[in-house]
Amino acid sequence: MKKLALDSKLVHADRKINKPQFGAVHEATNNSVLFEFEDVQDLVDVFQGKKAGHVYSRSSSSSAVSLQNVLNELDGGVGAVVFATGMAAISATFLSLLRCGDHIVVSQYLFGNTRSFMATIEGFGISVSYVDVTDINKVQEACKANTKMIFCETIANPVTQVSDLQGIGDWCESHNILFALDNTMTPSVLLDAKAIKASLLLTSLTKYIGGHGNVLGGVLVDTGLFNWAKYDNIDSNYRVEDEQQWGLTQIKKRGLRDMGATLAPQSAHLVSIGLETLTMRLRKICANAQALAKYLSTHKGVDAVYYPGLQRHPQHVRAKELFKRGFGGVLSVELSAEIEPHAFLNALSLVISATHLGDTRTLALPAASTIFFENGAQERKKMGISDALIRISVGIEDIEDILADFDQAFALLLIDRV
Ligand code: PLP
Repeated sequence: MKKLALDSKLVHADRKINKPQFGAVHEATNNSVLFEFEDVQDLVDVFQGKKAGHVYSRSSSSSAVSLQNVLNELDGGVGAVVFATGMAAISATFLSLLRCGDHIVVSQYLFGNTRSFMATIEGFGISVSYVDVTDINKVQEACKANTKMIFCETIANPVTQVSDLQGIGDWCESHNILFALDNTMTPSVLLDAKAIKASLLLTSLTKYIGGHGNVLGGVLVDTGLFNWAKYDNIDSNYRVEDEQQWGLTQIKKRGLRDMGATLAPQSAHLVSIGLETLTMRLRKICANAQALAKYLSTHKGVDAVYYPGLQRHPQHVRAKELFKRGFGGVLSVELSAEIEPHAFLNALSLVISATHLGDTRTLALPAASTIFFENGAQERKKMGISDALIRISVGIEDIEDILADFDQAFALLLIDRV
């Protein structure tokens, strides 16, 4: 595609790259599971990867491939694979690329379900070290001769610790370790993932990219920076032709075709519509989150606010270097001891009590008793999640209305106390 800046790509990439029929500006949603071939030799050739095409929509469909092309273009990668959910993208990638006896280093601040998945793979003989990824020394100390991968989130959910992405990227590059990065909190618009040398980007499409709470999806983008020729877990079947495609081929075959968490064509279409307004939404979301964090940080009803855009955040300087267009839409708060968190959430009327993030609407929930409940008290302590922590995912409403909702909730509870 002719060089376009990111925001222009968001609205033109589908049309320019995929060239839909009849001058359509969106690739059509094609629901066919099977594909007819007039000459059976063509069917055989597509099966064997000698020709491009689709044979069965669990492995690929034009709708999924079109979305993949666009998402890959945004991150400047060498290819992408979409999945039914963000968790499917993560689990399929790990299960395709790792083997019993491998070691990986992961963030001790992982999202609850991802953390739970790590326990699953530990059961399959993959050893996992959980470290403070804000500190490159801790990451380096944890690496061993059999370390295959380092995995973290850009900004941790919910306490917003910012990983030392540049340090990890440099270390992985010099030690030939895969750097897999969950970029759900800061998709393309906010982070230049190639600049910090990430190898694989794993992003939940359900969050900011889809953006409207109406579709689940996940994507893996290969940035092309990792040397697959030096990765001994690639099966000989997939060590063919372009080396840059080896990892993706194995993930497409083992992670998508064999495990089967395929993104449905209608879902691919919904994600691609959401994607068009990603920058606009994120601009508003980041501005609203910054304003809400500022308001909360000076409120007498609040003990602590966690948001990388606040100067007092421990990794604020790093966050400023990494995220040039804003610090994302998630912040967390601990209310002062007198305010009961459930009563506060119930008192909010515009803000919705719900588990989700990256939506157009502002959402909040108590993190310890919901998403991170299963992790247990000890694990939560390491993650910095107190029992009183409330996670807020800021939406695109007018900031006056968001602040007014918090104001009235504080006022209600403070009056109740008198
Ligand atoms: N990664 C992060 C950081 C998340 O917050 C989530 C979901 O909340 C996921 C991955 C999983 O995404 P999905 O819900 O699409 O499976």
